Amino acid sequence: MKELQARIKQDGQVLGKDVLKVDSFLNHQIDPLLMQRMGEEFYQHFREFPITKILTVESSGIAPAVMTGLAFQKPVVFARKHKSLTLKDDLYVADVYSFTKKTANKISVSRKFLSATDHVLIVDDFLANGQAVAGLTDIIKQADAHLEGIGIVIEKTFQKGRQLIDRQHIPIFSLARIKAFENGQVVFEEE
Ligand code: 5GP
Repeated sequence: MKELQARIKQDGQVLGKDVLKVDSFLNHQIDPLLMQRMGEEFYQHFREFPITKILTVESSGIAPAVMTGLAFQKPVVFARKHKSLTLKDDLYVADVYSFTKKTANKISVSRKFLSATDHVLIVDDFLANGQAVAGLTDIIKQADAHLEGIGIVIEKTFQKGRQLIDRQHIPIFSLARIKAFENGQVVFEEE
């Protein structure tokens, strides 16, 4: 998505060798019009899929997921993050190792909001090593729901997430694909 690439070039900050800070439009302050156009892009890509629900994880996935749900006119569910969680019967629970915080978390979704009749589109802000997507995929499996595809706002193709997803033959679509950070600058796959 050209508009997103331009925005990343303009406002993104490269931190260290593998983190991109985009808190002026995605991760802290949110640009709602850009989010809306991103939701529309995901819709255009996945519109032929029988999606019944959008699934993401709090908090940064929520804005793009809501706009995708709006485009599909389907509900959006976000997994909640917990430091620890004692087993609860009414929740699906999965483990996720946080890429940015370097901590292990549990994520959970209420059994009320995901079931075997659901066809799910996962939406998240970043794909790095694929841990967040793996946790969400685990929850979808526990619910006996069907994973239709994955929509990612910013994919870093030099990390392991894409390989993990491709190995499972899950359709994936990313709006911006970053090949490398070179001298503090972002290089996109499509450049
Ligand atoms: P993964 O689970 O794929 O390793 O990492 C994905 C999660 O980590 C995303 O949900 C996102 O919140 C966070 N993340 C990964 N890489 C970045 C990054 O470069 N910048 C920011 N802001 N968040 C990231």
